Amino acid sequence: MPNQHSLLTAFVHAGRKKRFLQGGVNPVIQRASSLVFESLADKKQASLHRSNGALFYGRRGTLTHFALQDAMTELEGGAGCYLYPCGAAAVTHSILAFVKSGDHILMSGAAYEPSQDFCNLLLKQFQVETTYYDPMIGEGISSLIQKNTKLLFLEAPSSLTMEIPDIPTIVKAARQVNPDIVIMIDNTWSAGVLFKALEHGIDISIQAGTKYLVGHSDTMIGTAVANARCWDRLRERSYLMGQMVDADSAYVTARGIRTLGIRLKQHEENALKVAQWLASQSQVKVVYHPALASCPGHTFFKRDFIGASGLFSFELQQKLTQRQLENFMNHFSLFSMAYSWGGFESLILYYQPEEIVAIRPNIECKLTGTLIRVHIGLEDPEELIADLQAGFERLVQCDD
Ligand SMILES: *Cc1c(COP(=O)(O)O)cnc(C)c1O
Repeated sequence: MPNQHSLLTAFVHAGRKKRFLQGGVNPVIQRASSLVFESLADKKQASLHRSNGALFYGRRGTLTHFALQDAMTELEGGAGCYLYPCGAAAVTHSILAFVKSGDHILMSGAAYEPSQDFCNLLLKQFQVETTYYDPMIGEGISSLIQKNTKLLFLEAPSSLTMEIPDIPTIVKAARQVNPDIVIMIDNTWSAGVLFKALEHGIDISIQAGTKYLVGHSDTMIGTAVANARCWDRLRERSYLMGQMVDADSAYVTARGIRTLGIRLKQHEENALKVAQWLASQSQVKVVYHPALASCPGHTFFKRDFIGASGLFSFELQQKLTQRQLENFMNHFSLFSMAYSWGGFESLILYYQPEEIVAIRPNIECKLTGTLIRVHIGLEDPEELIADLQAGFERLVQCDD
């Protein structure tokens, strides 16, 4: 994250209005379902401003929620931010807020698997049809837009395979055919700040705040920051669907934002060191890290992102056998095997080529070796490299 001074300051100060702090450094934790009106006039005022900062009813949020919403709105440059109980809820309810039966949507064929499952199982049931596109499609997106195409959903980088799409070209081509198309992005990898989605013409930037915002692998939350065109509808529809978050999770997320700048910087630096080391290893075929030239869309990354986070993948020369997998994966001392990422700790998972092919509709998948996904945490990168090196040595021993 090169010298984004104003951003570093914003991480510390965003959303810290006097009204939310009440004399402290952090916002108050206001746990409330009922919010009491002092008079009829008070109740009338609260009702009038219930969607823009008045204390009205717990489901509309309390001072704790408003502090986080204000911070995210400022950081991502939107008109407002809605909070959801997890990232998956942010994705699904953002989509649901804008489609009706008979509509068609475009979804990245390399999107987070549960986002695809939602389209295949639930949207289909509601007669909303999905077409999956190759994230490297560029201006070819325009030929996929039908009369009833309501929504275009992006994810950058792609889950697991890490392609970076040419987002400005895709957005421009889509809007040329249909100026009203609603464009959303799952912007989790960038923590909503390394790629400023709304500045690139996207309407809604969605995040699993579970990852970098919270940053400590102990809370789940989703955020969606919308521009002025989409904010009212996103907010009111999400509210209708009963989406909200408890005050404690909102508090922990706002606290995470205070250290997001230094955490992202360190994740980036550590991950780059590990990625560059991996690129020089004979057992590694390709490193899929957006900041390396070997990653599809690397030039778009350099043009459109201000930095990288800590998650990337690499492909091994060979497809590992079950015995090799057990030898390799079961004995790391610093890397844990777990889903999710974005916390302070390093994580590792593997995917066989056929498992990736199964979640790549309409994309030609060229993987032949086992894909390893790592999240690089805040440990000493040299010790992480030594841990991976020991894993490669276990593979050699296993070959014999
Ligand atoms: C983790 C993740 C989600 C889902 O977030 P949860 O908080 O686990 O529901 C969505 N999109 C991406 C890219 C993710 O990594």
